[in-house]
Amino acid sequence: MYFLRIHQGCDNQVSKLIEKFDEKEGYCRMLGHFLPFNYCRTMNEGLPCTKILDCWFEMIPIQQFIAEHYSEEEQLRIFKPPKTKMVSLVEILENVKKGG
Ligand code: SF4
Repeated sequence: MYFLRIHQGCDNQVSKLIEKFDEKEGYCRMLGHFLPFNYCRTMNEGLPCTKILDCWFEMIPIQQFIAEHYSEEEQLRIFKPPKTKMVSLVEILENVKKGG
């Protein structure tokens, strides 16, 4: 963590660190085929997939990776529980009401 803080002004060094596992591949149970880590760490609007801890813990020190590269706020966004179908439906109906 300290190492990252002292290099925050140097984009190349930080990006090298965040990319160090990008070439590794793992099997995705959601999509049914192998994917590079690069996909898993960026597929959620530039943030990691919600399931990244479950999928990668046997291959890389994923908890340490997340702690070192993402703020607390980003971690909350990464791991927020998915909306239930009922919440999504209510939001859709509210948007329809606003539009009509
Ligand atoms: S982290 Fe997400 S995208 Fe990557 S393998 Fe797991 S489920 Fe698939």
